[in-house]
Amino acid sequence: MDWKINIRTHMDVFLWTLVITDLAVIGVVAYYRLLVARELYQPILAHAVTVTVLLSMCLGYFFLWQIMLGQNNHKKLRQMNETDTLTGTFTRARFFMDAAGVDASRCSVLMIDVDHFKSINDTYGHQAGDDVLAKTAERLRATCRSGDILARYGGEEFIVCLPVTSARTASRCAERLRLSVGAVDVLLGHTRIPVTISIGSASGGQGDNIDALIARADKALLLAKSAGRNRVVAAEDLGDIDPEDRIRTMRRTSRF
Ligand code: GH3
Ligand code: MG
Ligand code: MG
Repeated sequence: MDWKINIRTHMDVFLWTLVITDLAVIGVVAYYRLLVARELYQPILAHAVTVTVLLSMCLGYFFLWQIMLGQNNHKKLRQMNETDTLTGTFTRARFFMDAAGVDASRCSVLMIDVDHFKSINDTYGHQAGDDVLAKTAERLRATCRSGDILARYGGEEFIVCLPVTSARTASRCAERLRLSVGAVDVLLGHTRIPVTISIGSASGGQGDNIDALIARADKALLLAKSAGRNRVVAAEDLGDIDPEDRIRTMRRTSRF
């Protein structure tokens, strides 16, 4: 059985101290009544109860206070490990924890990368770059469906796991995300910063796992970048062609 008593606030500490004190008093009274002769315990019972109340209140409060500090620190550490401080999205670690519970053969994965982000940093400064990342994450979060798992994969890359989602629906979701970011410039003070994203998507089939989906979505993303950015490419549309070959061919036949 997995149960845990949460002691998170001063009120919790106070209430549990009262519970412990009550139990200690009941224990002391029961001990004297059951094991000690009446004429022996009668004169000292009141003192014994007073000492028990004082001791259990002081010790109980002290130890419960320590437990409260420990539980709150543990919660903070877990939040830091699971939530990206800049964007408020899940971290990569939390993504893999949640994605482990999703049926990879029926889900889709989107790899998202902000286009030319280095030049945003170079033009407007690193702080503005941070703000752009936070606003981009906000738009992605607002556009994702409630069961989707959105996380910052690293740097200016995000990942979304879409549970029970076909390739067609995944492409539609990806397109919605692309438009939600690119349709309106990010406004920082009086400065308008145009931001676009490229997305690679991959959808699961029999025997697939999440790592294989991420690898395919990553290749599709590479192709979206090479094809000019600000677009969605689905791994399923690539067929058996190696994306690297496709990119080389496209480079030979086009001007980007
Ligand atoms: P592409 O369109 O091909 O993706 O080009 P890009 O410039 O977006 O990609 P590149 O990999 O060349 O540069 C990514 C930059 O993102 C480099 C790195 O300094 C910056 N970056 C990564 N993490 C952060 C962050 O947390 N904040 C800021 N401001 N910049 C970051
Ligand atoms: Mg990148
Ligand atoms: Mg980029």
